[in-house]
Amino acid sequence: MMPILIPYVMMCDYSMRRLHRQVYKRTECSNCGKILGIESLDRSNEYWAEYGSRMRRAYPGARLRMVRTHWAICSKCGCAYTFNGEAMQFIRTELMPLPLEGIDDLPRNSGSIA
Ligand SMILES: [Zn+2]
Repeated sequence: MMPILIPYVMMCDYSMRRLHRQVYKRTECSNCGKILGIESLDRSNEYWAEYGSRMRRAYPGARLRMVRTHWAICSKCGCAYTFNGEAMQFIRTELMPLPLEGIDDLPRNSGSIA
């Protein structure tokens, strides 16, 4: 089953990313009017990577099931967009707050035992 499933999932992912690229080039931000462009997808990917990193730090060892709710973040104003495949368009959505805001400000475990 897995030898069939993995190529299928990779093909679906490739198709979805290709579809996103076709649509973001002609989509304007509903807030500032800037064309979303590749920068918005890059920014969304960076945010998603940071989100995942913080979730793994917040719940070490847990098996996380995360659903990505945004696929573009406007590079000018920061509005987030999800993709509606049926309508073939990006739709404005709320950006999930990063878990553990300020986690970098928390004191690290020094490893010493008092
Ligand atoms: Zn914008």
